[in-house]
Amino acid sequence: MPPTAKSSDLPTVKISPRGAARLKSGHVWVYRSDITSADAIPPGSVVEVSDQRGKSLGTALYSSSSQIAIRMLSHDSVPDFPALLRQRIANAIAYRKSIVRDTDAYRLIFSEADFLPGLIVDRYNDILSLQILTQAMDANLVRETVIPELTEQTHPAAIVERVDPRVRELEALPPRPSSLLQGTKSSTTFKMNGIQFQFDALEGQKTGAFLDQRENYAAAAQYAHGDALDVFCYQGAFALHLAPKCSLVTGVDSSRAALEVADQNAAANQQLLPGKEIEWIEANAFDLLKDYAHSGHCYDTIVLDPPAFAKTKRDLDSALRGYKELNLRALKMLRSGGILVTCSCSYHVGQSDFLEMLGSAGLDSHRTLRLVEVRGQAKDHPVLLNVPETAYLKCVIATVT
Ligand code: SAH
Repeated sequence: MPPTAKSSDLPTVKISPRGAARLKSGHVWVYRSDITSADAIPPGSVVEVSDQRGKSLGTALYSSSSQIAIRMLSHDSVPDFPALLRQRIANAIAYRKSIVRDTDAYRLIFSEADFLPGLIVDRYNDILSLQILTQAMDANLVRETVIPELTEQTHPAAIVERVDPRVRELEALPPRPSSLLQGTKSSTTFKMNGIQFQFDALEGQKTGAFLDQRENYAAAAQYAHGDALDVFCYQGAFALHLAPKCSLVTGVDSSRAALEVADQNAAANQQLLPGKEIEWIEANAFDLLKDYAHSGHCYDTIVLDPPAFAKTKRDLDSALRGYKELNLRALKMLRSGGILVTCSCSYHVGQSDFLEMLGSAGLDSHRTLRLVEVRGQAKDHPVLLNVPETAYLKCVIATVT
């Protein structure tokens, strides 16, 4: 799309040559340090972005508070913002219809990757869970457009807003609680790959489940066998997918509340898992792996799916040390011919960093890893090739001898 001359009444934000080069490279963010003038622009405005010479670079959403000051909406002018929102919601839903299989829970809208920066919507069967991440998406005009459009397109029983207080603080937005925006229903069940899960829209981590791992659960299940250990199991999604293929599955997590739901999920799927033994252990995974590795526990399948260790670029080295410690211990416990499923959801740990760490853990533990699959996030969490931040999840499946 060629840049257009100023053709709107929108306030203008001028950006530095470095900011303009970033947009030219296909990225959609401009950092505050690359804003050269944004005088008296109200927080959360739709703005025109221009270079130093005044040439228009397109239309964006502005944050007066975040380090990410500009999130591009379009290379063109946007005469009717609500109409653009409606069209992009429709496009996001149509995209999911073409790529999502075997589930009634998936990410319907993924922020920048659906050209709706700052808006995330997950569908869990008949409940939508919405997250607003920026000043612009928090505006009443946006809420009054997005919620009716989602309702018309998907007919949910309820829409819930999940609030991360830290995000509102960073965006200098007033605090608000997580709450039902529409309807009265806040719990339901959903299915992934034929397995049923409970969902409570106002509880749990993220928006309730780790939908980005959905395709990785099915992939891991293809290779799982023998005795399996699911470390950082949360509500048991990997464990329940592995169980039909395994003789014994042990799930480990430090959250008792998550394990209680895991146990209820196991009970709800009893007919799929006749005679299968699944146990849940509440423990610090680092301590438990250390104890188990020392005391000679052995497994045929181990899943490692820890929380993000690198929240910022500065954490990269310590994150890699954390991943290496976990992977080393797991490698020591795997029987020959075993399967390691190892994940990282830290954007700052790139795929090559992660594979290098894993190779080094293989050397230190005197084990040989053979890659079976190098995977990322499920397709309903799309990746924009020129916006690296949209690709964050790594899931490596390897055989170990
Ligand atoms: N595998 C899960 C998602 C895991 S999210 C799924 O696919 O659904 C990370 C999990 O790690 C959370 O459930 C959190 O409670 C748990 N956790 C965080 N720190 C931990 C620790 N030190 N020991 C054990 N579990 C931990």
